[in-house]
Amino acid sequence: MARIVVTGGAGFLGSHLVDAIRARGDDVVVVDNLCTGSLDNIAQHDSDPGVEFVKRDVCDGIFLTGPVDAVLHLASPASPRDYLDLPIQTLKAGGLGTHNALGLARAKGAAFLIASTSEVYGDPQVHPQPETYWGHVNPVGPRGVYDEAKRFAEALTMAYRKVHGLNTQIIRIFNTYGPRMRLDDGRVLPAFLDAAECGLPLKVHGSGEQTRSFCYCEDTVRGILTVLEKADGNPVNVGAPGEMTILEFASLMKEVTGSDAPLEHVEAMVDDPQRREPDITRAKSLGWEPRVPLREGLERTLAWYRSYEGAGPGA
Ligand code: NAD
Ligand code: UDP
Repeated sequence: MARIVVTGGAGFLGSHLVDAIRARGDDVVVVDNLCTGSLDNIAQHDSDPGVEFVKRDVCDGIFLTGPVDAVLHLASPASPRDYLDLPIQTLKAGGLGTHNALGLARAKGAAFLIASTSEVYGDPQVHPQPETYWGHVNPVGPRGVYDEAKRFAEALTMAYRKVHGLNTQIIRIFNTYGPRMRLDDGRVLPAFLDAAECGLPLKVHGSGEQTRSFCYCEDTVRGILTVLEKADGNPVNVGAPGEMTILEFASLMKEVTGSDAPLEHVEAMVDDPQRREPDITRAKSLGWEPRVPLREGLERTLAWYRSYEGAGPGA
């Protein structure tokens, strides 16, 4: 049995990761300052002695007693709305927070994994994106606070690997969706799902011709654990190939929810990546690929939404 630290474990993805780690019998310590997460996401473990919660900003240092086998560093604002609202906190979480999480792993002789992102490719000029692509990021644009924080976090992780011989891994997560996304986090899935269910306009940024590829949370979590156990320290993309335009995604969301809500075109986001799709050759070589088809994942997310008491107009 292992003891695993999940920073950001009270967030959307982190909480699903906590569930998966507990399901296989390992203990978890969640370190989270709840700036974009919620204790509701891990309330299912309230009476579980195998899950410990530490309310802490990872930028202030992470000090834990007892052994730790792995540090999975997910703590960071993640949705564009959140990181545009919290630019300095985002840079600090990627910089100071990653430094502290690496320091914890080093002090404990633990493995380390950084949750990086497809945003390190910026608005990509290579398509689909393999891990060997260096990216096309505007460092001084609004998204630079997230993109550069993650790029710095990757560089720091590689430096700890080289200098301290730490067992490190880097996962580049592409758009992941599923139950427990905050309905006001501004990401396209909660925004469209909530609007479609409430009969409100689905607000499409710009033309809607920009693309994304969507991966169900259960697949991404399995990807995180696969990379932790099997990768060689080089970055690994985890995402679901199957690029679609945002307009196509809006139609699919209306179809799945049975909604006739209208679409409304609003101002495009600055520096919004125009195309995004993962090349998952490397992840496949580790034995990982997504299993949950988009439609099924959306139906599961819809079922969660319909049973969620926080849902409804204005949520
Ligand atoms: P989320 O906002 O739901 O979760 C982030 C969690 O980190 C929250 O619980 C938040 O309170 C916590 N946190 C933020 N800053 C912190 C700090 N300084 N100290 C302690 N806790 C802090 O977002 P998510 O979608 O679950 O993303 C989790 C991680 O995965 C992030 O690192 C994100 O960059 C990465 N990621 C996610 C996606 C995706 O599609 N969901 C894609 C790429 C990368
Ligand atoms: N988007 C949109 N309407 C929304 C939210 C997002 O058209 O209400 C677009 C957004 O501009 C982007 C895509 O959907 O092109 C995915 O956005 P999201 O915030 O989910 O993720 P990211 O931009 O980080 O991939």
